[in-house]
Amino acid sequence: MPPKAFLYPVPMDLYEDLKIRKYGFHGTSHKYVTREAAAYLGKPVDEIDLITAHLGNGCSMAAVKNGQCADTTMGLTPLAGLMMGTRSGDVDPALFPFIARHKKMSVTEVDNLLNKQSGLLGVCGLGDMRDVHAAREKGVEKAQLAFEMFAYRVKAQIGAYLAVLGRADAVVFTAGIGENDAFVRAEACAGLEGLGIRLSPERNEAREPGVRRISTDDSPVAVLVVPTDEELEIAHATKTLVEK
Ligand code: AMP
Repeated sequence: MPPKAFLYPVPMDLYEDLKIRKYGFHGTSHKYVTREAAAYLGKPVDEIDLITAHLGNGCSMAAVKNGQCADTTMGLTPLAGLMMGTRSGDVDPALFPFIARHKKMSVTEVDNLLNKQSGLLGVCGLGDMRDVHAAREKGVEKAQLAFEMFAYRVKAQIGAYLAVLGRADAVVFTAGIGENDAFVRAEACAGLEGLGIRLSPERNEAREPGVRRISTDDSPVAVLVVPTDEELEIAHATKTLVEK
């Protein structure tokens, strides 16, 4: 990532002394799906521009320019960015002292609240997206709200990363929710036709294994589902290192 993307606008001695910066997480997964997507689209990996969305229990997105990470949503810790199963993702950082003061909670307790009691779980009491769907199908309003909040943040990030990249070959969905959840993918891509993203409802809902295209053939930006394989990526990276 370039410094303008990985640095936080805080006093620079915090970076220099404590190495406080955006590191990002799920890099193994983003890297794996980047290579798979490039192969599927028939482009060299160092020429591919992608928005990759790893949506599992933990969720992160990356803007990939010429096969390299240009920006990502997680930060110094995995709490940043998208809404997740139990993590809040981005909130006004002033929430931290506000909650501590008003709820008389310690630093550790607020940290725990934002990491383990927030996200889908905090909004509707259910941290697993399959349970959220089951509840909203029964008419539980908070489950519907949690689903909409989750997808809204993915959509907003697709827009932000399209601006960062200027163009994209594809949006890639991966991990438990990204690979399996047609509702989340449809909601996150709804209304993005003006940005060149046209989902095919039939392809989105088809359950097929492997890498697949879920956008229409005339979509300027492809939308792909790419099953991740972090173990294989680790094995690949290890082999490359050992061979050196
Ligand atoms: P992961 O961390 O990649 O294992 O993903 C876990 C998340 O994926 C949980 O929120 C699961 O509810 C979700 N998930 C797994 N399978 C499905 C599915 N078939 N439909 C919707 N969500 C799913």
